Amino acid sequence: MKNPGEGVDMNIGNRRKNWLSDFTIREYGINGVLIVILFLFGLYLSWKLSLFALFMYLASWAASYFVLYALTCRHCANYGKSCPVPLEGSCAPRFFSRGGDFGPMAGVGAVLAYFLRVCIPYVAILQMGSVLYFLLYTGLFAGFFYVLLYRTGCPNCTNVQCPFNPDFST
Ligand code: SF4
Repeated sequence: MKNPGEGVDMNIGNRRKNWLSDFTIREYGINGVLIVILFLFGLYLSWKLSLFALFMYLASWAASYFVLYALTCRHCANYGKSCPVPLEGSCAPRFFSRGGDFGPMAGVGAVLAYFLRVCIPYVAILQMGSVLYFLLYTGLFAGFFYVLLYRTGCPNCTNVQCPFNPDFST
């Protein structure tokens, strides 16, 4: 029997690997490691800026989870399940009930959440004028999304309403 969307090829570069309704540590483990490193690197950069920036960074990260839960995760097929990023889809039901379709606002929520996570470190990098920190931090950020979007997350995901899903179709 065919899986939903099987045979459709409207993706933006992804290739279907699997259909996972629950992600295991094999898929989300590497994403977890990368996001912890990203968080700690951002923490260090914010601390270099000022103690106030450090506090704002921690507050921004905390706020980013609520933005994600409210606008993105509650509309996702991974709501309430272990998803490709630790502490995201699995934790959403603790704060928000399930929502409707995964529409454009879900994408806005994801962009806003990640903006909240990286904006203060980038202010710190600009303040320092460090090309090395810019390249390292941007490389880590891009690496996290490359692994999530093209390796561990999207190629295995059942949320076909998401434009990054291999079987997304308008
Ligand atoms: S397709 Fe990718 S970005 Fe979209 S919900 Fe699934 S894992 Fe997240």
